[in-house]
Amino acid sequence: MAKILDGKKLSEEILLKLKREVTGLKEKYKKAPHLAVIMAGTYPPSIVYVNIKGKKAKEIGMDFTLFKMPETVEEQLVIKTINKLNRDKKINGIIVQLPLPKHLNERRILDHIAIEKDVDGLTTENIGALVSGYPYYIPCTPQGIMELVKLTKQKLEGKRAVIIGRSNIVGKPIAFLLLKEHCTVTLCHSRTRDLDREAASADILVVAIGRPHFVKGSWVKKAATVIDVGINRVEDKTSPKGYHLVGDVDFKAAVKKAAYITPVPGGVGPLTSIMLLKNTIESFKKNY
Ligand code: NAD
Repeated sequence: MAKILDGKKLSEEILLKLKREVTGLKEKYKKAPHLAVIMAGTYPPSIVYVNIKGKKAKEIGMDFTLFKMPETVEEQLVIKTINKLNRDKKINGIIVQLPLPKHLNERRILDHIAIEKDVDGLTTENIGALVSGYPYYIPCTPQGIMELVKLTKQKLEGKRAVIIGRSNIVGKPIAFLLLKEHCTVTLCHSRTRDLDREAASADILVVAIGRPHFVKGSWVKKAATVIDVGINRVEDKTSPKGYHLVGDVDFKAAVKKAAYITPVPGGVGPLTSIMLLKNTIESFKKNY
């Protein structure tokens, strides 16, 4: 049976450290790091995630401002807001909650965030820096994944890492972070052939596709480390919410073969917002 990589516990430990750090910064500089979040529309998961970010920020004494915009907001207004926040010396981090409404150009909007305040690490400039091996900020979900991998204390050099999913926020950046640790990396996607065989070759398997229980137990190599990034809502009439969350991996089968595995919920998810706060503190310290 695999050891469970407990993201909830780890995130609480890191949060405590960040709280101490913010207290120290406030004593020294008489002001707190300040995170600004822009959210357009009312996509329910985005509201949940933004609330979590705000709650955790306040918990550690960080300032947090949410700019709520309507679903129909014009792109120019979003960009104008970003430009204003870029110039505002009181703001240390700026993020745009994704996904954006369909009529908005995500890349154009993200790329207006000044690199010094790009605490999600998603601008083209920062992704380029990540590929070169020297990111200004490490994108939050991939940074959380690396924290979980570190818990296994294994030597990563030479390990075979297979990533399923090639998004800009998870798949691509985690590929480069694992490459930096000298893994041999394979990046798979929806058009990859023999996906099961690719997965079964992985010492470290990262799955971020958004398909419930897509990766079967038979795809997992014995003693592998399995990081399940997927968050999928599955209808559940017995739950008060009407759904429960599952990952992209068939956990019950995979836990019998892997050496380490992340649960869903309680694995990668809790770390993402904590890494955002960590990056915002870093920005405060770097650019004060
Ligand atoms: P995405 O939704 O932007 O893209 C999905 C990726 O999966 C694509 O690269 C696609 O090629 C690949 N894919 C889709 N179907 C596939 C298939 N049948 N076989 C192989 N590859 C396939 O990806 P995303 O934004 O990285 O999100 C992926 C999942 O991770 C979602 O469930 C999302 O909710 C979750 N997520 C979780 C966190 C977190 O904090 N835990 C953060 C980001 C995303």
